[in-house]
Amino acid sequence: HIPVITIDGPTASGKGTVAHRVAKHLGFHYLDSGALYRLTALSAKRKGVDLEDEEQLALLASFLPCRFSRGHVLLDDEDVTDLVRAEEVGVAASKIAVLPALREALVNLQVSFRQLPGLVADGRDMGTVIFPDATQKIYLTASVEARAQRRYKQLIEKGFSANMEDLVKDLTERDARDSARATAPLKPAPGAYILDTSDMSVELAVQTVLDLYAK
Ligand code: C5P
Repeated sequence: HIPVITIDGPTASGKGTVAHRVAKHLGFHYLDSGALYRLTALSAKRKGVDLEDEEQLALLASFLPCRFSRGHVLLDDEDVTDLVRAEEVGVAASKIAVLPALREALVNLQVSFRQLPGLVADGRDMGTVIFPDATQKIYLTASVEARAQRRYKQLIEKGFSANMEDLVKDLTERDARDSARATAPLKPAPGAYILDTSDMSVELAVQTVLDLYAK
């Protein structure tokens, strides 16, 4: 039985950073499931596929020509690591993420990341839908203000422009969309440990997850 730690939570809650560090510490594989939704959105934009065309989007998602290599994300062999993190790609990803056929088309790819010695998977439905039998489930959250600040810092560091007011609005809208959708809505998985990181350092959040897993 291959161990899996799932880390779900709202946008910019710090899931990615925490999940990545926990994976590194344990020598586990890492799945950034949000990247798959972002890659599908980016691919759709490039191919001129409408963000409401469920059938075409599902088709795109099931043959997504993507690779993950040493922290880099490749689409059709092009390095799109920074491009997929752009705010507009995130917004498009959250729009297409409401479509059941598209979500279904990404299931097998996500499950295939579960390999020895183990996996840390971050997203919205890792503990509820993709890995319901996970070894340890975490729901990582933080206040909207704390999350907007983190996203702001991230975007500026990557050379994107950003402003706090728009970010708070984006995050709030995206949370509402992720929580209200009929398929795989964002909510803590049964048995998940709820970790509020509003006033917590990344180091402490990582240590808390490692301690929970070791218990
Ligand atoms: O986590 P990230 O911000 O990269 O995800 C982008 C969007 O993809 C989210 O806003 C969410 O709507 C969607 N998503 C999802 N299920 C996941 C991961 C991401 O619906 N497991």
